[in-house]
Amino acid sequence: MGLWDDEIPKEKFQKEKGEYCEICNRAEKWMELFKCPMCHKYFCEKCRLHMGGKDFCGEHCANEFFWGGEDGEDE
Ligand SMILES: [Zn+2]
Ligand SMILES: [Zn+2]
Repeated sequence: MGLWDDEIPKEKFQKEKGEYCEICNRAEKWMELFKCPMCHKYFCEKCRLHMGGKDFCGEHCANEFFWGGEDGEDE
């Protein structure tokens, strides 16, 4: 009822938040992680999108940050 049902079984994945990339699910010892200011996900250097002096997990978050989600419909 209006709740996000995102209970994906993660039995294989017992990593703490902040210890792996939530975008590509890569987990390495001492890997450098960044935190997205929009969705607050952690992501690795490979997934990082550097834009406007900030680091985002992807283009959609960067767009939302800078243009308030007025993304249009261009794919
Ligand atoms: Zn990644
Ligand atoms: Zn994000």
